[in-house]
Amino acid sequence: MKALIVGGGIAGLAMARALEQQGIIADLIERKADGPQEGAGLYLPGNAARALEQLGLLNEIAALAMPIEAQRILDSKGRMLSVTLTKDVWASCGLCLALPRSVLHATLRNSLRDTRLRFDTSISGIGQLGEKSIVSFTDGARSEYDLVIGADGINSTVRQSAFPEVRPIYTGNVCWRFITKDTVGVRDWTVMLGDGTTLLAIPIGNGRVYVYADMAVGEREVRDRVWQFPKDTYLSEFSLPLSPLLLSIPPQNPVHFGRVEQVVMDDWVKGRVVLIGDAAHASSPSMAEGASMAMEDALVLAEALATSDITDALATYMRRRKPRVDWVQKQCAARDKMRRLPSWLRVPLLKLAGNVLYRRSYKPLTEPIWTSTLSMLHHLVFACVVVLVIGTAFMGAFI
Ligand SMILES: Cc1cc2nc3c(=O)[nH]c(=O)nc-3n(C[C@H](O)[C@H](O)[C@H](O)COP(=O)(O)OP(=O)(O)OC[C@H]3O[C@@H](n4cnc5c(N)ncnc54)[C@H](O)[C@@H]3O)c2cc1C
Repeated sequence: MKALIVGGGIAGLAMARALEQQGIIADLIERKADGPQEGAGLYLPGNAARALEQLGLLNEIAALAMPIEAQRILDSKGRMLSVTLTKDVWASCGLCLALPRSVLHATLRNSLRDTRLRFDTSISGIGQLGEKSIVSFTDGARSEYDLVIGADGINSTVRQSAFPEVRPIYTGNVCWRFITKDTVGVRDWTVMLGDGTTLLAIPIGNGRVYVYADMAVGEREVRDRVWQFPKDTYLSEFSLPLSPLLLSIPPQNPVHFGRVEQVVMDDWVKGRVVLIGDAAHASSPSMAEGASMAMEDALVLAEALATSDITDALATYMRRRKPRVDWVQKQCAARDKMRRLPSWLRVPLLKLAGNVLYRRSYKPLTEPIWTSTLSMLHHLVFACVVVLVIGTAFMGAFI
């Protein structure tokens, strides 16, 4: 099979690795001259560790990452609302880890042996001819492929070509990310929730911490604008333990700004083109599941391609991946909604049920990556019941 992977991010590199493991050697093109360089951190819940293990890279990554034993949610004054021990949720999968994004990229890329990598290259068009995809490249070359795998991120050119009607949707938050010196001794994944603002810090090793801050902003206000990090707003809203981190942002380490967007699609396959990772299902980062979902996509698609013909493999990929990704996107939306609740409702809700809600939202993802639709539906129904019961109890208290 002749396959082209478009995009050398987490999804594209994991795809190339998973195909190599199945004895399939692909072409991979990446638009940037030397692959992605973005300097921020990544939190990897336990299902990422399991995917890395299946890619044969867990030991290497674990040696370079920080194990995260607990996730703590605090209010803006530093009072504890909920704490979850990660092993209580992820024991069957693996450790939760945190690391610089560049480390995961480099490890995936260095793991490739035979994949034909081309940087500084993009595509200018994809046509279908029977069961082949005819790809035109920006350097003027043209090639025929049995399959084109779009792993080119949220603004995917492959998706624009195969599904021109699909556009990323703004989720209502903008965010800033940076890596800085850990001046406060952050031990765990620690988030502080303000009114319409979030401040999160995660240790990533070598005395450094990854900081993520977000803010609810209307779409009109933010359109086409790059916002400088409003440090003073965060300093006045948040107190210890995390606020001192805002005073030590190194000038040589840029603060990355972004609008948080998502891509929601019914189908990721068109003819001999398939989408994986953010190109197919970019989500709000509130579950930190982007890297896990991208690597799981790669493993499932590679296994299907190695064991059946392309048409059947693409159908298997859709059937196995869609329910799981739908679940993640629904949970992200629910978390984003909860963070926007007024504090008089959000604080008692998290104190009462934060731990239960956390466990419920991740539990289905601990199941094997070929989990059936039925099993995911069971979790979805249960989650709705929990939300209904808690919601009714709250409403009852205020009527
Ligand atoms: C603010 C924020 C915080 C996040 N935090 C986490 C986290 O803590 N943990 C986690 O697991 N996930 C997190 N995510 C999600 C995660 O970053 C993504 O899900 C993941 O990077 C998706 O990988 P990808 O390879 O699909 O896309 P990308 O990482 O976007 O990679 C796409 C690649 O394709 C290349 N490309 C694009 N167009 C073309 C083209 N036409 N031709 C060739 N190459 C092309 C790009 O240069 C890029 O290298 C976060 C996301 C955001 C926005």
